[in-house]
Amino acid sequence: MNQMSDASQNDQAIERQCADLLNRLLSESVRNQTNLEGMLQNLAAAFARTNDTANSFCNTFRNVSVLLVNQMLDAFQNHQTIERQNADLLNRTLSESEGKFQNLSSAFARCNETSNSLCNTLRDLSESRCPRGWKVHNQKCYIFSTDQRNWDDAKQGCECSNSHLIIINAPEQQNFIIKTVKDNKENYWIGLTDRAEEGKWKWVDGSTASFLKWQTGQPDNYEDNENCATISANTKEQKFGWNDDNCGKSHPFICEKLPQSHIAAADFEEFCS
Ligand code: CA
Repeated sequence: MNQMSDASQNDQAIERQCADLLNRLLSESVRNQTNLEGMLQNLAAAFARTNDTANSFCNTFRNVSVLLVNQMLDAFQNHQTIERQNADLLNRTLSESEGKFQNLSSAFARCNETSNSLCNTLRDLSESRCPRGWKVHNQKCYIFSTDQRNWDDAKQGCECSNSHLIIINAPEQQNFIIKTVKDNKENYWIGLTDRAEEGKWKWVDGSTASFLKWQTGQPDNYEDNENCATISANTKEQKFGWNDDNCGKSHPFICEKLPQSHIAAADFEEFCS
């Protein structure tokens, strides 16, 4: 009986121990479950924070992307604007250059016209001709002085104009001179003298006078002092022609020379052709 009681007591002890163990395990299980729930909550919270961070990152990335895209668009638009401005500037520059080229072409054309005009003027000057104020007859130049001088001064005056006192050696030349002499109603010294030898009339170039047109009764060497010749304006028959006169008297005079050019064609034609 005691043995059975002991066994029963042992069983009860074991049952209590099992119950205690079960209770501990249950308590621990509850505690573990609580801990697990806490961990799960922490994990969920951490996940939520991670999600927030990810969302924040995505938002930031999106914002940065939008910003970058906008900046690229702005840069592209700026680039297009600059390209348009460059194109406008290029077009303006081309237009201005074209205008300048046309101005230059016009200036060149005017310069060419001026050059041609200048060359024609030089060609005119290169032609042999009489100086202004000189009369032209049969390819010779004549001038009738307006002042009066003695024969020597008259001769020198002509020489100062690269000419000489007139030498008359043909009827047509005489007739031409007589027209002006008559119009001016003057007696003009001519380049005829017999001072070297009385009665031997020579022209200023040393040639002996062969064509003679003396007035009637001349030369008379009046008072043995008439060695220089004039051409008379008197239209009376006996006074028409030449007269020997006192070389010291003052008369107007007639100078004669060949036409001359002011410039030689060789001096400019190489620049004009
Ligand atoms: Ca005389």
